[in-house]
Amino acid sequence: MLITLTCSAPHAPEVGYLLGKNPASVFARPFSAGTVHVFYPEVADDRVTIALLVEIDPVGLVRGPAALARLDQYVNDRPYVASSLTSVAVNTAFGSAMAGRATKEHIERLDERMCWQVSLPALACDGGVDLITRIFAPLGYTVATTRLPLDPAFPGWGEADLYSVHLEGEQTVQRVLGHLYVLLPVLDNSKHYYVGADEADKLLAHGGAWLAAHPERELIARRYLRYQRPLVQSALARLAESDPALAPDAALADAAAAATDGDTPAPPDPIEAALGLHEQRLNAVLVAVREIGATSLADLGCGEGKLLARALDEPALARIFGMDVSTQALARARRALHFDTLPPARRARIEVAQGSLLYRDRRLEGFDAAALVEVVEHLDTPRLRAMERVVFQYARPRRVIVTTPNREYNVRWPAIGAERLRHRDHRFEWTRAECQAWAERVAATYGYRAARQELGPVDPTLGAPSQLIIFDRLDDSTTPTPAPEQASE
Ligand code: SAH
Repeated sequence: MLITLTCSAPHAPEVGYLLGKNPASVFARPFSAGTVHVFYPEVADDRVTIALLVEIDPVGLVRGPAALARLDQYVNDRPYVASSLTSVAVNTAFGSAMAGRATKEHIERLDERMCWQVSLPALACDGGVDLITRIFAPLGYTVATTRLPLDPAFPGWGEADLYSVHLEGEQTVQRVLGHLYVLLPVLDNSKHYYVGADEADKLLAHGGAWLAAHPERELIARRYLRYQRPLVQSALARLAESDPALAPDAALADAAAAATDGDTPAPPDPIEAALGLHEQRLNAVLVAVREIGATSLADLGCGEGKLLARALDEPALARIFGMDVSTQALARARRALHFDTLPPARRARIEVAQGSLLYRDRRLEGFDAAALVEVVEHLDTPRLRAMERVVFQYARPRRVIVTTPNREYNVRWPAIGAERLRHRDHRFEWTRAECQAWAERVAATYGYRAARQELGPVDPTLGAPSQLIIFDRLDDSTTPTPAPEQASE
């Protein structure tokens, strides 16, 4: 089984650093179902082709781990077609690139969109050309497919559920690999291994960044997770209410919307509700910003810049600053905000920069308002304390607006339940009382007044899914109130 990936970009051989595979040598590694080889049939300054050759051992498949023994034939198409086994091979060969790791000198290029052509000479798919197109087109690929005969020597035998597929589109390395990893088993629909809870984690890890906006996300989750309802629901709910930093970039959302064409079934309730929730958060934050007549706003932990984009549409905000610890999130924010082509007057109002909320930072001083939208729950206790000092003792904006989940509401999402948190990177999720207690302590320590509000549809016993806390500075001086301890580090 062979797949080729052709990448056209300036200094294309540098892709080798991103993939962790030297263009000058051949890589081979055994995996559970055979051996995967990687080599470069074409290397030029502006274009490289990467070949992934997967040798499946069909006898080994049957003799191998019990989970694989479900393929009850020694003779089958697995050695020759791109299928769920190929997906394992992709991960074996390119696991570090898929996880977003690369050498320091080249890490910036992980985020670069390059022109990729993917050739899958024999792709197993039980849903026809239509399904292949519905799956790949919304991700920004042009898709060309040819159905293959069962046996070219015997045309009378008819056609196989196999397609020769050619994809072309602008993608980052991580995306193109994530697409193959997640979507080959989805199309194949005969995933060879046992599907447990960690499969949902894999789906979110490799699909989270683009799956949320995919019009076929439900179909993808159902097939990937082999129709196991609780897993599918949990994955979809986590996707919807996941770290907004995982949300798709604007171009992808547009492509997904264009591909929807109005005939995709409406997503089920919790997902719709949760997606609407983030909009409600951003609206609520902006209402609180307007309320004090703020002319400057710092968005702390700005992620991909959703709040920043809306802030730019508020003419009163003459100075907007987005800060995040993640350079990748900031690169996406700059792209989503069209930084390079913003009219000069708008461009002059906004700046984004990398920084950490754990360290005192003079760039954060002098703002009327600061927002931390779905950020505090990502900080463990010592970091939360450091952030409190950085924001409330040193930066001291007139108003600080914080949003965070209400854990009590999680039981309303059966897929999350009472025990689990909404996102794997959440260090905690507060109940309403815990949130209130935190807000009161911070306010009392640093000279603010705190008011907690419900955010989203209110359940009479559980409250709303999200909570908003508005801190208003009591004094008008910008002198820091002495705090019990020094800011750490
Ligand atoms: N506010 C954004 C993103 C929320 S996700 C939105 O609502 O869409 C949480 C963000 O906090 C991530 O982008 C993460 O990179 C950022 N973050 C986490 N720890 C941080 C820290 N110590 N300093 C600054 N940003 C941090």
